[in-house]
Amino acid sequence: MGGIYGNLPERVLVDGMTDMVFVMAIREDGKMVYEFFNRTARNTLGINEEIIGRTISDALGDVRGQLLEPLYREVADTGISAVYSDEYPDELGKTRYSETTLVPLFEEGTCTHIVATVRDVTEKIAARRSATLLNGRLELSGSKFRALFENNSDAVFELSADGTVLAANPAAGRLFGKPEKSFDGRPFAEVIGEGWGEREEKAFRSAHSESEGDIRVDVCSISGPVGCLLKFTPVMNAGTQIGCYAHLKDMRELDKLVGQFMESERRFRIIAEHVRDLILLVDKRWNFLYVSPSIKTVFGFTPDELSSSSGEKFVFPEDEPRLRETFDRTVLDNGVFTLRLRLAHAERGWVWAEMTGSAVYGSDGRFLHMVLVIRDITRQKEEEELLHNYAYHDPLTGLPNRRLFFDRLEQRLERYRMAGEPFAIILMDIDNFKQINDNWGHETGDEVIRAFGVRISGALEDGLVARYGGDEFVALIAECRDADEAAATGRRILDSLKSPLRITGREILVTTSLGIALSAPGRMSPEELLRLADRAMYHSKKEGSGRYRII
Ligand code: GH3
Ligand code: MG
Repeated sequence: MGGIYGNLPERVLVDGMTDMVFVMAIREDGKMVYEFFNRTARNTLGINEEIIGRTISDALGDVRGQLLEPLYREVADTGISAVYSDEYPDELGKTRYSETTLVPLFEEGTCTHIVATVRDVTEKIAARRSATLLNGRLELSGSKFRALFENNSDAVFELSADGTVLAANPAAGRLFGKPEKSFDGRPFAEVIGEGWGEREEKAFRSAHSESEGDIRVDVCSISGPVGCLLKFTPVMNAGTQIGCYAHLKDMRELDKLVGQFMESERRFRIIAEHVRDLILLVDKRWNFLYVSPSIKTVFGFTPDELSSSSGEKFVFPEDEPRLRETFDRTVLDNGVFTLRLRLAHAERGWVWAEMTGSAVYGSDGRFLHMVLVIRDITRQKEEEELLHNYAYHDPLTGLPNRRLFFDRLEQRLERYRMAGEPFAIILMDIDNFKQINDNWGHETGDEVIRAFGVRISGALEDGLVARYGGDEFVALIAECRDADEAAATGRRILDSLKSPLRITGREILVTTSLGIALSAPGRMSPEELLRLADRAMYHSKKEGSGRYRII
């Protein structure tokens, strides 16, 4: 190494300079290559010895090469120093601004080297730009504008043309959870954090045209990402954009509300419009706030017919107090109710319906409305009645079965216990029934059982006659004060069988044996009374057919 920087004092001087210094050598083939750079250059750009002997294009890439090499070439060719402005990314990727002075060095009339001294003017440029921006801003502003900035509930950043934060308002500090002054001088992209991408960059670059509109961006706050709406507003000065305002609206609350609304609204509509049940929204005074279209198919009315009148009109008068009481209680309890009641049908009159009500409250806890889901249960009711009938009736005779008889007997015993009203039960068993089966067949036997039931029921109009099982029947005689009255009833039964039963053109004479048990203290369970009646019947059968015994 020799020449201009070869000796130590010169080297110390060059290395000690705060400006970056590069020395480019012009080779014999005309190529310009790096021959030297000082410590400042190394530290600022993060470059190393590898660039020595390489051209600008080789070292910094074609783009920089094509930009810079002609400038250097011109200096070499003309022998005249030049100054140019440049910008470059430093080792942290931050844009720096520079002023470069190119000085040609000659040896024997030939330009052999170019010395490039690069002065960092970033601070100077920033100060100048912010001064311009400030001037521009002040032109636009006035105290009203300032107040709008300071007191804006949304975060607002003032940015220079290159996207550096010049100022941030207090709301910005709150949004990010940092002091608002901490943003000053930082690139806005860095402030936003990971959420800053191509789209944001594009929006920022085209802020002056306002073509991008608002964009959604997640900003990096101290407590994690925050969904915001970002908008750039240009700051113009004498027709040129000197910076912009970045406006960040915190969308968390709104997003939540919109989400909830969309979800509940969507869910509600899907349910209300598609279910076969009727859905109503009623207020406290029973005014209809919403009537689902299914009102037509469920109750035959149009939504308008219902909406134009008050709800009470559609409730069966007897069921209304119960509904009103349940409704009011549910409003207070914040609960849900289910009621069975009769409601008006446009053509069918009163129909049975099941109504489920859920109270809905506002965020302030105030009752808003009741959501009523109503289903016509006429069919269900009929089926239930049928099932109930099956469960408590004998399919062959249609008479109450043993279970129903037990229930009634228990109720009657309770009345006896409370009021002492005497009663009797009569157990009867057809005499020699097996023979009927044997003689005429099982089907005829069935018909005999059926006809026997009809005959007995006719004889005991006030009593409850039940089929106890097989050829056994039992009757509850509600009012029977003593053995005499019991005997009279017994005779009535036997008398009713004096004429033969008519079974498919055949006349069949049947007799029965009766066992009668009278109510009395100590005979307090159905089982006990039936046991006694059975015993009486057993004795009566032993005495011969067509008799009764009282116990
Ligand atoms: P008793 O005079 O002692 O009562 O004699 P019985 O022949 O009537 O015999 P018992 O009462 O002990 O038996 C009743 C018979 O009735 C037994 C059974 O074969 C018949 N049986 C029970 N249920 C039915 C039924 O639903 N239909 C028909 N056809 N027969 C039945
Ligand atoms: Mg029998």
